[in-house]
Amino acid sequence: MGDHTAYRRPTLAVMTAQPGPSESAAPLPEPFRQDHAEIGVIGGSGFYSFLTDARRVAVSTPFGAPSDDVVLGELHGRRVAFLARHGHDHRFPPHRVNYRANLWALRSLGVRQVLSPCAVGSLRPEFGPGTVVVPDQIIDRTWGREHTVYDEVGAVVHVGFADPYCVRGRAAVAAALAEGDLPYAVGGTLVVINGPRFSTRAESQWHQTAGGTLVGMTAMPEAAIARELAMCFTTVALVTDLDAGVEHGEGVTHDEVVAVFASTMPPFKALIGAAIERLPAAEPDSEATCACRRAVDGLALPFALP
Ligand SMILES: [Zn+2]
Repeated sequence: MGDHTAYRRPTLAVMTAQPGPSESAAPLPEPFRQDHAEIGVIGGSGFYSFLTDARRVAVSTPFGAPSDDVVLGELHGRRVAFLARHGHDHRFPPHRVNYRANLWALRSLGVRQVLSPCAVGSLRPEFGPGTVVVPDQIIDRTWGREHTVYDEVGAVVHVGFADPYCVRGRAAVAAALAEGDLPYAVGGTLVVINGPRFSTRAESQWHQTAGGTLVGMTAMPEAAIARELAMCFTTVALVTDLDAGVEHGEGVTHDEVVAVFASTMPPFKALIGAAIERLPAAEPDSEATCACRRAVDGLALPFALP
């Protein structure tokens, strides 16, 4: 697992601390000064600017370093931790993201609810570029990734994953979408491919036939590890293209994805902010009512969760 950090970090090891965007904001009350957040956002580097009073903290985990420093700040009165999934300079391709370290780092800061915005291809022509989809199911076609925190011989931990996403998190995003202007769909199956290449036409048609709505590269093992750590997790998928088999033409290109993502970023960020505002209030572990938070109840864990 250390290979992930050793693989990319050496030449770019020095992270420059950057001041938050609103240094002139009023000082936060004492409890807010600590390295603590209740809500996590794992997303693209376009999200850096959306927290106020932001500051960076380096977090180490038993699984190595997360993709980047965590940016702690406030949004709509909620304490939010942002983590750039691919690093601030987008250096980690989907199969090299240290998903275990990312989720562990957020949990160690107090985060129990995670929103995970990501770019996806659409397998349904009616959900075109710019559409936001809140999937409720996953088909995992990734391989070769560090996909579980319970990886050692010894205590065997099986968590339930029949419903991979948080019901309450999805409801919060759906409510924000209903009040916004973006085209959207609530529900759908996200097929997670290994990448970094896009699908062939035959693969894309196969994913459609299998019941897939969307194709992405990062939601697994991210969602599964969040469940293993008893965290609420919600993917918010932004369609950037129609996948290869959905229409005739050249198929998806990287430039196409980048262009759509850039133009949709401002309303998409606003949506994530509106969803954060609607997430349920934080609950202590002992009293948490969401099923996600009870995922490891009664299981013999090989270590205590942070
Ligand atoms: Zn939940």
